[in-house]
Amino acid sequence: MLKVVKFGGSSLADAKQFKKVADIVLAENCRHYVVPSAPGKRFSEDDKVTDLLYACYEKASKGESIDDVFTRITDRYDGIIKDLGLEDFSLEEDYYFIRHSVLHKAGRDFVASRGEYLNGKILAKYLNFDFIDAAEVIFFKDDGTFDAERTNDAMSQRLAKHEYAVIPGFYGAMPNDTIKTFSRGGSDITGSIVARAAQADIYENWTDVSGFLMADPRIIENPQVIDTITYRELRELSYMGATVLHEDAIFPVRIAGIPINIKNTNNPEDRGTMIVPVAEDTSKVITGIAGKKGFSVITVEKDMMNSELGFGRRVLEVLENEGISFEHLPSGIDTMSVIVNTASLEDKRTRIIPQICKATDPDTIAIHDDLALIAVVGRGMVASKGVAAKLLTSIAKADINVRMIDQGSCELNIIIAVDAEDFEKALRAIYAEFVA
Ligand code: ASP
Repeated sequence: MLKVVKFGGSSLADAKQFKKVADIVLAENCRHYVVPSAPGKRFSEDDKVTDLLYACYEKASKGESIDDVFTRITDRYDGIIKDLGLEDFSLEEDYYFIRHSVLHKAGRDFVASRGEYLNGKILAKYLNFDFIDAAEVIFFKDDGTFDAERTNDAMSQRLAKHEYAVIPGFYGAMPNDTIKTFSRGGSDITGSIVARAAQADIYENWTDVSGFLMADPRIIENPQVIDTITYRELRELSYMGATVLHEDAIFPVRIAGIPINIKNTNNPEDRGTMIVPVAEDTSKVITGIAGKKGFSVITVEKDMMNSELGFGRRVLEVLENEGISFEHLPSGIDTMSVIVNTASLEDKRTRIIPQICKATDPDTIAIHDDLALIAVVGRGMVASKGVAAKLLTSIAKADINVRMIDQGSCELNIIIAVDAEDFEKALRAIYAEFVA
């Protein structure tokens, strides 16, 4: 058995949390590779070290003094080192080098990546594990995209030389050796990359919640924890705004068929959520519910549209030329609706309408804003009848108007659009109908 374990920022925010992490890692000798984030918030008004590093970079680039912020960063690490009792250990040389680099125009990603780098060094020392700099084993291509195959080769060769190691999350190297980070929350991706390269049996992702929740706890009181979810269901839920795991973290382990276990550092006994390639159990109809506001629908109507060759293509071409991607495409016989992210329309809406008119000569065309989308996701929907009926009834009973409904052909999800102001109410109605 081999496990790769990743710990998020709140799991490594101070020495007390470091001790919990060490207890977890050392409790099983199959936990060979550890991927840390940078120290996160210790309390709600606290700052994440990564944010302090970005602030440092901003100040340096404006020619302002970085002294205050930089000291806050080094104080965080020194506090951890001291409270862990690591007497013969110091990061002074690293601080000196980082400070010098920041003042001499080091790149933004380099500066941000030092949060994980320094935390990884402390953790490796504390666990008595080897330290592998992610810049030596994680690679990006010239165009900035992740180089999966080169990384997998280099990483697996390197891991073979270390029985136990810490590999800092969030960053890697460009072909010219400069540092590049993944997007925010990217240590999850590093963990997944390491798990693939190590051919791990499981990728444990330790955070501060006991797994994936069936719905957003800010909207639904005390939602149930999802026991098992498939990669595909997770992808659907994360697309719709459910966060716990970085979206891109799924791909490396998915290729290798490695399950991810979301676990809680503060409650290690909790089972957490298992994310698996396929799940046999379809007894639960619904796996989770998620949604987001901020969508607009462009509705184009034309008599006999259904028989007009190339109509849809012409509408989409206008959007494509304006660089707007569409989210959903529910159509009627003589209407076509294109749901897009409102932010992507920006100032383009005044150009889009005349262009679609020119391309399709419609009877009417309109853009309607302030929509919310809700996805009801579950592999159990294929096998059970009447899910859509139940869903729509629950919403009607809550006196909410459904603006659009779209059932994916895979029957893994049903997506509905409601007015943004009805969003929370609709989510509660659906949860009450299917789960509570
Ligand atoms: N420290 C980085 C962030 O705050 C990456 C991570 O925590 O995964 O986004």
